[in-house]
Amino acid sequence: MRTDSPRFVFIVGGVLSGLGKGVVTASLARLVQDSGYRVTVIKIDPYVNVDAGTMRPTEHGEIFVTEDGGEIDQDFGTYERFLGINLSKDNNITTGKVFLRVIQKERSLEYGGRDVKLIPDVTNEIKQMILEASQDVDVSFVEVGGTTGDIENLIFLYALRDLMREYRATTVMVSYVPFLRNVGELKTKPTQHAVARLREAGLFPDFLVARSERGLDAPRIEKIASTCFIPRENIIDDPDIECVYEVPLIFERQGFAKKVLEKLGLKFKHGLSEEWKRFVEEIKSLDEKVRIALIGKYVTHGSSEHRDVYISVVEAIRHACYHLRLKPEIKQIFSRELEGRNDVASLEEFDGIVVPGGFGEKGVEGKIFSIKYCRENNVPFLGLCFGMQLAVVEYARNVCGLEGANSTEIDPNTPHPVVDILPEQKKLLKKKKYGATMRLGAYPAVLKKGSLVYELYGRKEVVYERHRHRYEVNPKYVEVLESDGLVFSGKSPDGKLMEFLEIPSHTFFLATQAHPEFKSRVLKPHPVFSGFVESCK
Ligand code: GLN
Repeated sequence: MRTDSPRFVFIVGGVLSGLGKGVVTASLARLVQDSGYRVTVIKIDPYVNVDAGTMRPTEHGEIFVTEDGGEIDQDFGTYERFLGINLSKDNNITTGKVFLRVIQKERSLEYGGRDVKLIPDVTNEIKQMILEASQDVDVSFVEVGGTTGDIENLIFLYALRDLMREYRATTVMVSYVPFLRNVGELKTKPTQHAVARLREAGLFPDFLVARSERGLDAPRIEKIASTCFIPRENIIDDPDIECVYEVPLIFERQGFAKKVLEKLGLKFKHGLSEEWKRFVEEIKSLDEKVRIALIGKYVTHGSSEHRDVYISVVEAIRHACYHLRLKPEIKQIFSRELEGRNDVASLEEFDGIVVPGGFGEKGVEGKIFSIKYCRENNVPFLGLCFGMQLAVVEYARNVCGLEGANSTEIDPNTPHPVVDILPEQKKLLKKKKYGATMRLGAYPAVLKKGSLVYELYGRKEVVYERHRHRYEVNPKYVEVLESDGLVFSGKSPDGKLMEFLEIPSHTFFLATQAHPEFKSRVLKPHPVFSGFVESCK
């Protein structure tokens, strides 16, 4: 057994998905980080897709974008927000990525002609990928997506088991303890089964985080301890709460990080930062409200509500509000419902409007309607990616008088293609190259001195934001748009790509081709969002 770094914390889920395993992982990692250790987080997604870039947000939630251009699971947003660090796309390991590597090796005879097997070849590849992503850290957190017992994640559990033969590691299971209303009782049986399934795969949970609606009681803790062979003090109570940023505090009260560090042979040095504690206390006492509408497309799916598709935007608004001591009330509106109606009553109750990223024609006119409403009524507006493209369409049509102006994504035959596909993107699509081919990851923008955005970023001349799109403002229309009062206040260094726009005479009308929401942190709100919320107030 090695006694050096990295050490590992494996986080696996039992009973059902959607328990907030990502929040558990991020909260525990934050506590270990605040204790004085270098941490990283790796997420295993057991689907065969190589990355989440080609997945439907309705089913998969938000597609998060990393600094190095990965299109990955939204849990990475949670990790980055909690930990305040940038993670690489290599920290996301999918079945697709693993097999791509194994098959490429096999094709180039790297296995020397022998049989290539799930064990040890695929498990070795998984281990290798985990180790590559765990360099230069003290503790590496590995969260396994899905639920124990799924055949999809079994091979990953075997790989973790194998890693434990060499490295110091501890396993945390996040499970669910339902409350049955008709009998008035918390039920531990599903958790008992989940732990048993995990043991079949060779992993014994040292800790059990019990998610429940209203918290565990002593008899249930005893029951789980005695049936799952987990010490009573290692059963962590994790009831539903209003604000996820309180989870680290809940864990700290139960000494979770301290016990985990002890298991890893590390000393507990410091508790959760005072700054974080103060922040959570302050959130609880806010009463001045600010109402913000998010005009999107992915609002409901069947009978369920989509809480997650715009999660980074929602969290970025929240961070900004919290730091300005405002209580955010964010309402997601399905843009299609605004279409064909000329009444603005449904928008008037809001202090500001955000049009986030998006794809395709569904609900586009509703988004354009809401942008027009903001522009004409001096209501704060923030456009993100697609939101900026549609702001250009709206301005072209209604201010420049370019009738029928559109993005060629929506209307390929528009007489005024004010937003158009990049030539290199056109070639890729012809060859059906959809995966990981958009303009992705961090790009610089040169800001115009004296502009709103220049002031917001603290007078920085160059800023980096993350991108994910195929279309751009058409350079041919920049002159006419600018001559009618629109200002492109941020451009790519060669001046060809429009990265920020604003209307100087407006209270706050700002849009960007990038996704600044991906860089907002719990203790460090993003200046663009802070500026927007401030003007809403
Ligand atoms: N659909 C637009 C494009 O591909 C915008 C993408 C986005 O909002 N992320 O350019």
